[in-house]
Amino acid sequence: MSGLTNEDLFRRGQAVMPGGVNSPVRSFRSVGGTPYFVARAEGPYVYDVEGRRYIDYVMSYGPGILGHAPPTVIEAIREAALAGTTYGAPTEGEVLMAEELCARVSGLEMVRLVSSGTEATMSAIRLARGATGRDKIIKFAGNYHGHADGLLAAGGSGVANQGLSGCDGVPAGAVADTVVAPYNVVPEIDESVAVVAVEPVAANMGLVEPAPGFLADLRTACTEAGALLLFDEVITGFRLARGGATEWFGVQPDLWCFGKVIGGGLPVGAYGSSHEVMAHVAPLGGVYQAGTLSGNPLATAAGLATLAALDAAAYTRLTATATRLADGMAAAFADAGVTAVVPRVGPLVGLFFCGEAPTDFDSADAAAANGVYPRFFHGLLERGVALAPGPYEALFPSLAHTDDIIDETIAVVADVAATL
Ligand SMILES: *Cc1c(COP(=O)(O)O)cnc(C)c1O
Repeated sequence: MSGLTNEDLFRRGQAVMPGGVNSPVRSFRSVGGTPYFVARAEGPYVYDVEGRRYIDYVMSYGPGILGHAPPTVIEAIREAALAGTTYGAPTEGEVLMAEELCARVSGLEMVRLVSSGTEATMSAIRLARGATGRDKIIKFAGNYHGHADGLLAAGGSGVANQGLSGCDGVPAGAVADTVVAPYNVVPEIDESVAVVAVEPVAANMGLVEPAPGFLADLRTACTEAGALLLFDEVITGFRLARGGATEWFGVQPDLWCFGKVIGGGLPVGAYGSSHEVMAHVAPLGGVYQAGTLSGNPLATAAGLATLAALDAAAYTRLTATATRLADGMAAAFADAGVTAVVPRVGPLVGLFFCGEAPTDFDSADAAAANGVYPRFFHGLLERGVALAPGPYEALFPSLAHTDDIIDETIAVVADVAATL
């Protein structure tokens, strides 16, 4: 061991980085205590600098769908790195990645690769405004679409975890054209609306399922108003199913945003649409958007190796794993007399300490604010199971989480539930 401790690194980190971290939730603000600093990770496990091992359900909030450090992905990155890490000229990897995304998603004809989910949503909104000539956008409370100014209003986990209703530094003008509507209710959409952005399964206010018909009715309402429908699939894309939420729900949006899974653990995002809409993007059209590291060869190599492992059998397996986890946790809570719901949509799992599954941000927020989660979180962490350090995140079981690992997790959950 290196002799490093989490306490030491947290203290040093806080002196030179706000909160000691580079993304707010990692600082443990909403659960209290000292974050574990990761030294390495493998399969379903992360190891901290003190040598402690955790069964990991954070999985980088989504990218780790194959588990940590999957050999095929690591080998693809190694090979790509040996050929140079960035060129500023197009590569075969970008063509293959764009072909793979379009082949998987019905209606998706062209994509633009970027370097984060935030960049994808920010650029897709610009494209929607450019393509429609309209300014207004509608988003849903508790849906997170990254941290671009115009999308931060009522933004779910990242913002919610900090106990902030909005965000300092975002001028009123930047959100003047953003309308926030409650999730699971089709809003009034008039002819000033360029785009309605939605998480097809809300996974940044805990896990909140779309009500039956919500997405289909939203599709109809957008079509009638001439507004574009944007599925933010940065979490659901290639996790829910081979063709993402479009396949899962049988509803086709006009615009898609992807991230997380498609980067195989490297920084990546993508937005896409039909040929017609994408013709507005520079150099074809007047909507400018660019990136020094966009389509980065390491990221496309890692993403392609990840997607190559995600066939139909992988999704069946992932859903079985998530079902075992969700059912086992729910049973453990029931046995211990703890009021909790463990919502699941395919391979996506959530957790709320309340009696009924929340349907929107107000109900999710009420459940998250009752103070049970931090105690549960620390009980698990002490026993070697890492959940996200905040009550607004989903759980991310991966293909590396075997039935034995899930059963070990459920036993720990039962143990901790008995102390609540
Ligand atoms: C994570 C996330 C984003 C932002 O992606 P980053 O890569 O963190 O910028 C956008 N939308 C959704 C639904 C997300 O979960």
